[in-house]
Amino acid sequence: MRAKIPQRAASERIKNFLEVALGFSKEQAEKEAARCLQCKNPPCVKGCPVGIDIPGFIKLIKEGKRREALEKIKEKNNLAAVCGRVCPQEDQCEVACILNKKGIPINIGALERYAADYELEHRTPQAAARARKSTKVAVVGSGPAGLTCAADLAKMGYSVTLFESLHIPGGVLVYGIPEFRLPKQIVSNEVQYIKSLGVEVKTNSLIGVTLTIEDLFKDGYKAVFVATGAGLPGFLGIPGESLNRVYSANEFLTRVNLMKAYKFPEYATPINIGKDVAVIGGGNVALDCARVSLRLGSKVTLVYRRSEKEMPGRFEEIEHAKEEGVIFKFLTQPVKILGDEKGFVKGLGCIKMELGEPDDSGRRRPVPVKDSNFFFDVDTVIVAVGQSPNPLLPKATANLKTGKKGTIEVDENFMTSIPGVFAGGDIITGADTVISAMGAGKKAATSIQNYLGDVST
Ligand code: FAD
Ligand code: SF4
Repeated sequence: MRAKIPQRAASERIKNFLEVALGFSKEQAEKEAARCLQCKNPPCVKGCPVGIDIPGFIKLIKEGKRREALEKIKEKNNLAAVCGRVCPQEDQCEVACILNKKGIPINIGALERYAADYELEHRTPQAAARARKSTKVAVVGSGPAGLTCAADLAKMGYSVTLFESLHIPGGVLVYGIPEFRLPKQIVSNEVQYIKSLGVEVKTNSLIGVTLTIEDLFKDGYKAVFVATGAGLPGFLGIPGESLNRVYSANEFLTRVNLMKAYKFPEYATPINIGKDVAVIGGGNVALDCARVSLRLGSKVTLVYRRSEKEMPGRFEEIEHAKEEGVIFKFLTQPVKILGDEKGFVKGLGCIKMELGEPDDSGRRRPVPVKDSNFFFDVDTVIVAVGQSPNPLLPKATANLKTGKKGTIEVDENFMTSIPGVFAGGDIITGADTVISAMGAGKKAATSIQNYLGDVST
């Protein structure tokens, strides 16, 4: 039997922001690890975007060598505790696991988390900063792509400075993903580890405004990695989106997660949320907004234009949202947000949808059902229908080539149209996943090393 990760009861967890999934005990982890077949040519590794030696670390867990298991993971992944919690393993390593054919894949994510949490439970003194080369490299943006690239460059011996526009490093890991899925302390530990490698972190530095890319080269940086993410919120373009109590998912989550709006006035940022919230969207971001709203005491309806099968959110998060009491309205497309005489939201007008032929994403396209319009009462609407690449830095940087959707264009080595300027993560792909951003950060670090080797000879 595949072991399930223990979790807090739904009735308890909707009253607070404590972490929902609790992690394996030693016995559970070693029992689950013992199920691994130690495949000679393991398909799970091919499914992992950063190529972790999965059977290798699982074997070490089975042998009770938890610290060594973590070291094995860290050969490829600097953010193990993060990935063990938020990676969509069901679409990556676990779907590839040979035991998935029998419907009982190894719970690789939970085992990764078990190994990674060794560090939380046995705080070890930070390693001394490594010897630095004099060559300076700048990394812009401290999400998973920037953190990974900075760490790898520091391990290679470069003198790395990480510039972050917000006051806390971590990118979406701190401002987007809520505490109950990824405690801030975990991200803070990972940032500490990266600092311990010698990376200098400069917060409140908006590159493109505080300093330009040109300024960075003038300051002696020999290469720049841009990892500014996809933080520009999308809207539906329907009437009523400028009413009071309509939020973009980004604003809502940033206020609650990063600015601790739920602790107002102890924390300075307020949030105006009503008793009846509609969240529009079907991905992880929409699910996070819905579950945060529940914890703020509201009734929550999630409105999604396709069926449950097409939802892009992680399976585990969909299950958690259901257990916690989020109401799902599938095959429903909002067409209008209704307001009262004071300009506040009072309802959501929708039309029913049915599924037609598959679209470019391979999912069946939703098409409106004639004469099926209806509306329901809500007093808050959160729009979580996707994010686009942050436009500020590309706009402020002459000759930086961008694609149609605002992504920065790169070659096979992650180099942009400007020599010495590299880019990776959501800023080149559009909104994606933590692990793919990390994978890009890793590959870009190697490309930067090759590039700097090239220019110095
Ligand atoms: P980001 O994490 O977006 O980091 C970019 C950083 O750059 C930010 O800190 C930003 O402040 C900074 N920045 C921007 N412009 C500048 C500038 N000009 N100068 C300096 N700094 C700048 N993925 C998963 O795999 N699993 C999940 O469960 C999951 N849940 C998610 C939930 C939410 C709410 C959101 C929004 C996303 C989620 N994702 C999830 C997606 C994942 O978080 C992103 O794909 C990933 O964080 C992208 O990493 P990144 O490093 O490219 O960018
Ligand atoms: Fe173990 Fe599954 Fe990977 Fe085989 S595919 S090594 S069983 S985790």
